[in-house]
Amino acid sequence: MNAFIDKMRRRAGRYLHVRSEPIRPERGVLSLSFDDVPVTAWTEAGPILAEHGIKATYYVCGGLAGGQNMGLPQFEPEHLEAIHEAGHEVGCHTYEHVSTLTLIPEQLDASLARNAAWVNDVLGGYEMTTFAYPFGDCALGAKAVIDRRFLCGRGVRDGINAGSADRNLLQAIGLESRRLPGYDLEALVQRAATEKGWLIAYGHDVMDGPTPYGCTPDDLDRLIRLAKTADLDILPVAEAWRAVGG
Ligand SMILES: [Zn+2]
Repeated sequence: MNAFIDKMRRRAGRYLHVRSEPIRPERGVLSLSFDDVPVTAWTEAGPILAEHGIKATYYVCGGLAGGQNMGLPQFEPEHLEAIHEAGHEVGCHTYEHVSTLTLIPEQLDASLARNAAWVNDVLGGYEMTTFAYPFGDCALGAKAVIDRRFLCGRGVRDGINAGSADRNLLQAIGLESRRLPGYDLEALVQRAATEKGWLIAYGHDVMDGPTPYGCTPDDLDRLIRLAKTADLDILPVAEAWRAVGG
């Protein structure tokens, strides 16, 4: 029964209180993002991003720093400093890595404030401007909170943001070994180019033999190469938000 209610609540979050914004970049855009963040999203993905000269967005939870999540060691504060120093965007993913379906708006707001304070402390005054929903769960009551605090919020529902999109629940594809076989990445990138859309990808670990929620270094490299061949702009989420006209 709870699973059914959660499903209905996810559906309400998707279809109600939509704040539709035009998506009109001069050319198609790709944003790469990493959630949580497992250490390999930095140690393995970082050099690939550097080699291509591109920046990504890392969605962090202060409460996961130095800990384990789904069996993998998570980033340490030093990793976050290095990520920031390399010019990548740091975004918010709640403090405790908690589904918004389990929180009333005041609790979500408190979690976001706590994460903001933690990141601000670690990165010496840094302010996060975009958000990713843990587990992709967007409760209807969460949208107004995200709208107030951030430029935009990213979910995990497959699709390209083109024409217009809900700024508080942007669509994204998973750089996840469980999902990648189901995508035609070349076609998605091509569509982003021809429709002048915004393709957002998210992942977790990046390593050979990734978890179902992660990908290999080659998977990441391939998507970047496809995007470059299709002449997409590759930008962190906040920068992309401005480029698409938000
Ligand atoms: Zn997460």
